[in-house]
Amino acid sequence: MAPLVPLIATMKILVLFALIGISVAAVDYTGHQVYRSYPTPGENELLQRFGKVFELDFWSDYRHGDDFVDFRVSPELRSKVNEFLTKNRINYEIFIEDLGIAIAKERKPKLSKMNDDSFDYFVYHTVDEIDEWITSFTKDNSFASVVTIGSGKSYEGRNMRGLKISTGSDRPAFVINCGIHAREWITPATCLYTANKLMNEYNMNMTITHLMNGVDFYLIPSSNPDGYAYTWSNDRMWRKTRSKSDMCDTCIGVDPNRNWDFHWGEAGSSSDCCSESYKGSVAFSEIETKNQRDFVESIENVRAYIDVHSYSQTWMYPYGYTKSPAPDAAILEKIGRDSVSAISSVDSHVFQTGSISDVVYVASGSTADFFYSKGIKCSWGAELRDTGKYGFILPEDQIGKGAEEAFQGFMVIAKNIPLGPC
Ligand code: ZN
Repeated sequence: MAPLVPLIATMKILVLFALIGISVAAVDYTGHQVYRSYPTPGENELLQRFGKVFELDFWSDYRHGDDFVDFRVSPELRSKVNEFLTKNRINYEIFIEDLGIAIAKERKPKLSKMNDDSFDYFVYHTVDEIDEWITSFTKDNSFASVVTIGSGKSYEGRNMRGLKISTGSDRPAFVINCGIHAREWITPATCLYTANKLMNEYNMNMTITHLMNGVDFYLIPSSNPDGYAYTWSNDRMWRKTRSKSDMCDTCIGVDPNRNWDFHWGEAGSSSDCCSESYKGSVAFSEIETKNQRDFVESIENVRAYIDVHSYSQTWMYPYGYTKSPAPDAAILEKIGRDSVSAISSVDSHVFQTGSISDVVYVASGSTADFFYSKGIKCSWGAELRDTGKYGFILPEDQIGKGAEEAFQGFMVIAKNIPLGPC
């Protein structure tokens, strides 16, 4: 029989869902907790091994300097995890007391539909709403047009579309990619916010007008649409794509940020198809990564690229696959410092900059490394807010500031295109 407390919590959540009029996702996270642990490097190896055996859902990788790792613990595993941490004397604290409640509170109650049909940039949208928004936004804004991402279709046949914002011709390009990891909801919202802010500020804000007169912006709001749709319909915590492979009959999906053909399959990616960082059976096994590659490579003169993730507040440049510095590390470090300084002007949030492998961990087969290897010198991977209080479940009332932080960082990169460093 289920313990009484989780049962009451479940009922509360069901009532809350009923009140706000959305259906209950198939996976119920009531009673799940998110731990932050502080292992030494040696203890972290033990923790990773333990996590693999018990299929712990790691929310963050081991962070250098801070030396912490976040992971989700189900009620069934709690005593085993606590026993392991205590036995190995690994300090930890509980960051999210009840993930089910956090998910229920993530979205604001939608009590009545507003009369006006204006698009709300400060709520999360489904993949279908985003696709419809692309159509209407590009219809309403003469400088914005629809672009097809590669074949234009995902594994499950969803549209893969983006937009181009261009005030002229023959401009260098800046590609902003959002939503590659399905559960990182703040990132599609950030792409939408960015498009809207660019259009609203054109001819209003001198800096933005100047940048838009020198750079074409390409935005991909949802580059893993099947995974994103699945986070709405079935499992809020889904991260990967939704492909099925003959190589694996137990688990679904590939980590689309370990699937790129540059040092593919090396450190920091997994060949276990049930792992959250599964690299895929071959590089570009996923139609979504192939589509994005073909799309970016079809644009002439791409001078900057950023892959937007959450969470942990970082602004990172290549390399991810190795600790060795990239040839342009000094230039990128300077742009990174300027970016995090602009970001902190929004709400005093501190972002870290540096190479991916230095700031976070060694990760191979990533977008940022791949496009850097293809000659896009200003190639970035960013993690937006927060630092773990909500993690992936960032409440909607933080979309505005979270997206604005990203926007300020994007503008610093964009500025460096006409200036020369990018
Ligand atoms: Zn991510």
